[in-house]
Amino acid sequence: MKKKKIAIIGAGILGSSCAYYLSKNSDFEVFLIDRYSVGSGAASWAASLLTQVRKDPATMALVQETYRTIEQLSKELGNPLGERRIGSLQVVSSDTSYASIKALENVGNEFKLNKQWISPNTVKQKLPWMDTSKVKDSLFYPDDMFLDAHVLAYAYAQVAKQRGATIIQYKDVKEVEVKDNKVKQIIFENDERLVVDVVVDAAGAWSNILSIPHGIQLPYSPVRSLYWITKTDERLFPANQPMTVIPDAMVYTKPETGALLFGIRDKASKAFDPRELPKDLNGFEYISAEEQQNILLDEGKLFMEFFSELEETGIAHYEAGFSTYTADSKFILGKSERINDFYFATGCEGTGVAISGGFGRIIAELISGKTPFLNIEAYHPERFGSFNLYTTDFLQKCSDSRSNKRDGV
Ligand SMILES: Cc1cc2nc3c(=O)[nH]c(=O)nc-3n(C[C@H](O)[C@H](O)[C@H](O)COP(=O)(O)OP(=O)(O)OC[C@H]3O[C@@H](n4cnc5c(N)ncnc54)[C@H](O)[C@@H]3O)c2cc1C
Repeated sequence: MKKKKIAIIGAGILGSSCAYYLSKNSDFEVFLIDRYSVGSGAASWAASLLTQVRKDPATMALVQETYRTIEQLSKELGNPLGERRIGSLQVVSSDTSYASIKALENVGNEFKLNKQWISPNTVKQKLPWMDTSKVKDSLFYPDDMFLDAHVLAYAYAQVAKQRGATIIQYKDVKEVEVKDNKVKQIIFENDERLVVDVVVDAAGAWSNILSIPHGIQLPYSPVRSLYWITKTDERLFPANQPMTVIPDAMVYTKPETGALLFGIRDKASKAFDPRELPKDLNGFEYISAEEQQNILLDEGKLFMEFFSELEETGIAHYEAGFSTYTADSKFILGKSERINDFYFATGCEGTGVAISGGFGRIIAELISGKTPFLNIEAYHPERFGSFNLYTTDFLQKCSDSRSNKRDGV
């Protein structure tokens, strides 16, 4: 029987996971394509927290699949991927955060996650840097972990390759050619062609560049995310301290080799017009040094209520990158109604590493003609129909999707 040829455009964490799952099916011939190398896109900047508990049970189900897949990948590759199972703490410091964390706990209970409420004293023992005077309580998830996103993307691609997938790096896709409402071939910038039966657009911030010529407007914008890393201080930042989510400070933290990584969900997360993005984001100025400093001084004040020694500890550096956020805070996952065999895996909502396993599995289920393990109607790529992607209002909605996020990352 002739194999179905499937091209995945974008070897980021989502495209690589799709390749991993699709390559399990021996009826498929899988091509994973990137204009640079595997995992060189948004994965390079990710803080890579894989917090499991989420307010939306569907997101949790996607994350659970990633956890299962990481275990499976370690077996397939014959060595651990370097994941660090240090647990995470949801920090309660007001009635509002108590209510939101209780709601999270209820969802976590549905998934039977191990958890434990711990006192401010125990929090202090786990996190010497934290001032716990404002902390009322904390919900600890001991099994949560983080794993370098680049390592995970590479592992997905490596196993896909072992199973026979072809990894094409440093080749830029110019367009997806469609004929009679059906995907026909991929045309590269150097004019080479690859005739395929199916295309998966997993091109991250650039996904729209490939879909718009076919009248498919994906409802996302690239939105800037930022985090900072403090200077090292072994006394304040022991290696196995848990990650935290502090809703009242709009902050998450993670240990970073003797230092602390912290991300602030700034109120004005900047959304960009996808047409303005260069192909190569190395050296791209996401934010000026001054603007970064202002965010730290203004919005970091809330964090300093939990970490008063931040100023004297000092910042070693900051990192910025793009995630794709949608105007309705829902992922983009599924197939086009207009063009046969055109699939989409993007709109990661800043949590692409954590949900990658679930995304890959669903794309493989759809292409195999199976019912996906999760209802994905809400993620339909064409759910917004025809609209203007470039209005200030639309960009603002995508930006708000990030700024208003309160639960895990
Ligand atoms: C600062 C920051 C912190 C983050 N922290 C976390 C976190 O803690 N936990 C978490 O789960 N997520 C986190 N994220 C989000 C996570 O990094 C993203 O969700 C994820 O990496 C997105 O993956 P992707 O595959 O959609 O995109 P990308 O990794 O960007 O992949 C898209 C790929 O497509 C390629 N491409 C595009 N167009 C073409 C073309 N025409 N031809 C060929 N190739 C093409 C690009 O080169 C790129 O490699 C963070 C993001 C940022 C920026």
